[in-house]
Amino acid sequence: MKKYCLAKKTACVVVFFLLCIGANAQEKEYPKPEPMRPGMSEFWTPQPAVVTPGDPITQSAPSDAIVLFDGTNLDAWKSARGDGEAKWTVQDGAFTVAPRTGDIETRQHFNSFQLHIEWASPTVVKGESQGRGNSGVFMQGLYEVQILDCYDNETYINGQTGSIYKQSPPLVNAMRKPGEWNVYDIIYNAPIFKEDGTYRVPPTITVIQNGIVLQNHTTILGTTEYIGFPQVKPHGAGPIVLQDHGNLVRFRNIWIREL
Ligand code: MG
Repeated sequence: MKKYCLAKKTACVVVFFLLCIGANAQEKEYPKPEPMRPGMSEFWTPQPAVVTPGDPITQSAPSDAIVLFDGTNLDAWKSARGDGEAKWTVQDGAFTVAPRTGDIETRQHFNSFQLHIEWASPTVVKGESQGRGNSGVFMQGLYEVQILDCYDNETYINGQTGSIYKQSPPLVNAMRKPGEWNVYDIIYNAPIFKEDGTYRVPPTITVIQNGIVLQNHTTILGTTEYIGFPQVKPHGAGPIVLQDHGNLVRFRNIWIREL
């Protein structure tokens, strides 16, 4: 009988405490948030800047682009060997590599950007592999996107058209025939460096040739090296460089938008 009374008392105490906890929990209940309405996840400011797109017929640049070549002169460019003029040949709304005059580069330097550049390999096919229609466009003067006549022309895959030269092969071969115009649209994100000169954020690049993705947000490992592997070298803004590889590659309609 004594045991029964003790058990009864214990049960009463437990029930009492449970009731207290329940009461406390009820007191601490927070007010329910307002139910979501469509407008609560809509943001109205700041509005994106208005950019007038280029005209596809006249192939004009977007309204906020810096035009690097409009078909008339190479004023935006200089020799990469010094401050001298770019000596490549301007004719019929395009310019052509003048072999052995050296690379040319933009006078202006850039960080991250969207670049539009059109190029054509020579109509008369000469040479093979890397010796055929070779040029290149360098981001910040250091990282080459290969230009090569890869139409029915086999070469090492990380040296093909649209490769990050000696690093990353293109996803596909999207070449037009020799002499026809190809279009590169390149989106490039400049690297961020740590104090010790290594990448905190490496450069990344997307390359689209003739509307077809060749590089999809590819991480660039370091500088383009003909012999050896990529190097990581700290740098700031840099020019767009076009390569004189001794082949008569033509260029036209070049514009850039800083990002
Ligand atoms: Mg090249």
